[in-house]
Amino acid sequence: MEQQINGIALPNDEGFFGVYGGQFIPDDLKQAMDDINAAYQEIRQTEAFQTELKELFAHYVGRPSPLFHAKRLSEKLGGAQIYLKREDLNHTGAHKINHCLGEALLAKYMGKTKVIAETGAGQHGVALATACALVGIACEIHMGQVDIEKEHPNVVKMKILGAQLIAVTRGTATLKDAVDSAFEAYLKDPKNYIYAIGSVVGPHPFPMMVRDFQAIIGEEIKVQTQERFDALPDYVVACVGGGSNAMGAFTAFLNDAAVKLVGVEPAGLGLETMQHSATLTLGKPSHIHGMACYVLEDEQGQPLPVHSIASGLDYPGVGPQHSLLKDLGRVQYETATDQECLDAFMTLSRVEGIVPALESSHAVAWALREAPKLSPETKIVVNVSGRGDKDADYVAGKLGLH
Ligand SMILES: *Cc1c(COP(=O)(O)O)cnc(C)c1O
Repeated sequence: MEQQINGIALPNDEGFFGVYGGQFIPDDLKQAMDDINAAYQEIRQTEAFQTELKELFAHYVGRPSPLFHAKRLSEKLGGAQIYLKREDLNHTGAHKINHCLGEALLAKYMGKTKVIAETGAGQHGVALATACALVGIACEIHMGQVDIEKEHPNVVKMKILGAQLIAVTRGTATLKDAVDSAFEAYLKDPKNYIYAIGSVVGPHPFPMMVRDFQAIIGEEIKVQTQERFDALPDYVVACVGGGSNAMGAFTAFLNDAAVKLVGVEPAGLGLETMQHSATLTLGKPSHIHGMACYVLEDEQGQPLPVHSIASGLDYPGVGPQHSLLKDLGRVQYETATDQECLDAFMTLSRVEGIVPALESSHAVAWALREAPKLSPETKIVVNVSGRGDKDADYVAGKLGLH
């Protein structure tokens, strides 16, 4: 059953979500993407693929991830009840393993010899290196030099897992430059290599494929909230970088009009400072990395330098499906600053004993701000996309806890 909203396909045969998405790429790359799409459409239907992925989700990732009622936090805030979807408890500590297993399995079924990808905070790199080690396929990861220095533990993990790490020094030496570098490497042999994008971005079929692999998050939330309080949640909240954990959490609820969906973008040092990464809030429809979507760019159409305390969120584009959902008003996109995010990181750690990733802390920050205004019958599910171990040293330094 293909997905729709208001009669609009998600996506149509050309990979468009309304006017967003598509394939804005050279012909040779388009051919490679069409081959991946054809293989995906065929392979995902097979019993062998579905069974293997399902088994790995259950016994390797540890799904379903728990839905935890944060009672102390809810009481402290004195408003809505907050439930945490614990993607931080997945093997490798974040939601990214969900689509990485899907992509690595697809590579295996397609007979590819190498998986190539970019990584920002290193989370996608670690998850992909993990999935490739498990599946037994070579893995090449491109990472900005700035991020390499900031995310040392993940860099070491990727090497231990057997991935080949390529340090990218061009431009701002962050995620955007790593994407460019990885695409170039992939185009050297698209027949034998496969590109594994780390979010619901890039040319068709990736925004659709990564979403499909992540949709398990929302499907589980639906079952778990029914079991727990015999109703749908009032809100589902997730942080938005490229948008994969948010699409994963939202997809099952898109046609449940009563469920409010909230995506939280990084306001960084403030929306007025140019030191942010609030693409849907302040960007405009344009093109980046082979897709049409909202983009933060200057008058010349060049992507702006972006900033967030969470390196997994500093990307000047955003998934095409989010771009459509914003225009339709189906998802409400809000922001949280670096400071609010730090406060949320510490609050969740000290009130519930759960140390969230700085990325996920943006969604937690929204809940801390809004829950006090809502009634105690209101139920908010916050997607805790990952754990904060990777951020602990950075936060401790920032707050003088050393
Ligand atoms: C990468 C990452 C994100 C941001 O990516 P999305 O595609 O927007 O989900 C969010 N949280 C964590 C823990 C991450 O590692």
